[in-house]
Amino acid sequence: MPVSRFQKILGLPIGCLLAVLLGVQTVWAQLNVVTTTEDIASLVQVVGGEWVTVQSLSRGYQDTHFVQAKPSLMVTVHKADLLIYQGMELEVGWLPLLIRGARNPKVFLGQPGNLDLSLSIDPIEVPQGALDRSMGDVHAFGNPHYNLGPSNIKPMVFMIADHLSELDPNHETQFKSNRNTFIKRFDARLDEWRQRMAPFKGQKVVTFHRTWSYFLREFGMQYVGTLEPVPGIQPSPPHLIRLSQLMNAQNVRLILQANYYRDKFSKLLAGKTGARVLALPPGVGGVPEAGDTIGLFDYLVNQITKALSNNE
Ligand SMILES: [Zn+2]
Repeated sequence: MPVSRFQKILGLPIGCLLAVLLGVQTVWAQLNVVTTTEDIASLVQVVGGEWVTVQSLSRGYQDTHFVQAKPSLMVTVHKADLLIYQGMELEVGWLPLLIRGARNPKVFLGQPGNLDLSLSIDPIEVPQGALDRSMGDVHAFGNPHYNLGPSNIKPMVFMIADHLSELDPNHETQFKSNRNTFIKRFDARLDEWRQRMAPFKGQKVVTFHRTWSYFLREFGMQYVGTLEPVPGIQPSPPHLIRLSQLMNAQNVRLILQANYYRDKFSKLLAGKTGARVLALPPGVGGVPEAGDTIGLFDYLVNQITKALSNNE
């Protein structure tokens, strides 16, 4: 019986050689994780390390309520082992289209490859009573911008580590060890951010959209109103007049908005009230300095403390 060149080289039977090759492949197989935001991608990378590949469907400088469901994104979802999204209808305008177009049963709702990360946190601003979408409210299930609440990061990371472990049990130890290392680092920074933000507790703030509610709550700042009369709806002149009266009456010194919104309405309001406008990245990747979760909160705390310190 002829002996193959590989058998001669390794001195192994073909079956053995195959087992070794397959074994190597199993050990090195990476989970292909697709996320809707760079915030989630950053956390998956931290936990998954070398055992995952991660790709985000949106960029940090995009409004995640309104992403275009392009065919190239369907191809990305088609290849995913796991799709993780922010949920609470943040991506309702585009993610269902991508999932349908991608034809990847692994990421269908109810499958292990479909993870709604909002299940890890306690939502705020959940509308009471019957839902009325006639006003175009894009927060019909509560505020979906929980990535900006530093206290939400821990439960998010725990859920990601648990889910990666479920899909790839061989690396559970590494996922959980990465998780713990990150949480320790993050908690130390959170203590520092709390100390730096402490002087501004009770500070009154108006925001463009309800992007910052979790962030403001974390640092004890007081949300007074939004330029949008309802999430997703442009401000009207009468609404802006009422808001400027409220801001003057309550001495609101800061207008906070995501940096992807046009600032003409905020500037108009600033002109009528003397408040300062801060346009900040509402997620990882929103500016180059906010390259990961810690970088994002660092940047936000730096900008806000700087603005308010110069505001006295
Ligand atoms: Zn929103």
